[in-house]
Amino acid sequence: MTEPDAPDLPPPLADRACGGCTVCCVALTIEDKDLQKVQGYRCPHMKTGQGCGIYDTRPGTCREFYCGWRQLKWVRGGLRPDVSGVLFQLRRDLSAAIGAQRIAVSVTLLTRAALQAEGLAESIAAGVAAGVPVFLVVPGPPGYTSAQAQINDHVHEAVRTRDKAGLLRILAEMYREARRGDFRRIVIEPNPDGGGVKAKVAPRVAPRGAKRVTTGGATAVRKT
Ligand code: SF4
Ligand code: SF4
Repeated sequence: MTEPDAPDLPPPLADRACGGCTVCCVALTIEDKDLQKVQGYRCPHMKTGQGCGIYDTRPGTCREFYCGWRQLKWVRGGLRPDVSGVLFQLRRDLSAAIGAQRIAVSVTLLTRAALQAEGLAESIAAGVAAGVPVFLVVPGPPGYTSAQAQINDHVHEAVRTRDKAGLLRILAEMYREARRGDFRRIVIEPNPDGGGVKAKVAPRVAPRGAKRVTTGGATAVRKT
C-alpha cells in the first residue's frame, strides 16, 4: 500500500505497449499474497509465446505494475526491455537529504550486452540532467540479490559535457565491479509485521568483499 506522503507514480504512456515482452515476469521478485517468486525465474503462470496464462485473474501486483519504459518519456523508445536487456523501473526512495520520499529510477542491466543498447546513455543522461536519482542495478544469479549503486555523482561530469563514450565507460566499469558483488539468496516468508509475505535476504554464509557498488537487499528489484 502507498504511504500517505509517497509521491504518485506516473501513468503508462499511451504510445507504449508491452507487446511480446514478458521481462518483468522473469526479472522481478514478487511478493504478493497470491504469487511469490524470486528474481531470475520465470513466473509459473507464463505460457511460452502467449504471455500470462492467467491474465484476467492475475494478482494485483501484476495489474498495477508498469516498467519505466512504459511510464517515462525520457526513456528512449528503442529500450523495450525484451529488446534492449535494460529494465527501467520507477521506485519511491526515501531521501536522507530532504527527509521525504521522492521518485527515483533504477536501471537494471539484465545482461552485459545491455551496455550496448541503443539509447541507454541518452536516457540515463536525460534522467540525471533532470535531477532524478538514478540507480544502476546488476542482478545476481537467479534467486539472489542484486548489486546496486546510485550513479548520479559518478556520471555527472560526463552528462554535463555530453560525453557519451565517457558515460558508457563509467557504466561498464560499474557493471564489472557489480558482478563481483556479494550476492545473497532471497527467501520469501510470512511477513512478521502483518499479513502477506515478505522477501528477505538469507544469512550470509561466506562474506566476500564488495567495493563501491553495494549489494542491495531482497527488495532491490521487486514488482511492487
Ligand atoms: S517489462 Fe515493461 S514492457 Fe516488458 S512486460 Fe513488463 S511492463 Fe511490459
Ligand atoms: S501472473 Fe504476473 S508475473 Fe506471472 S505471468 Fe502473469 S503477469 Fe507475469
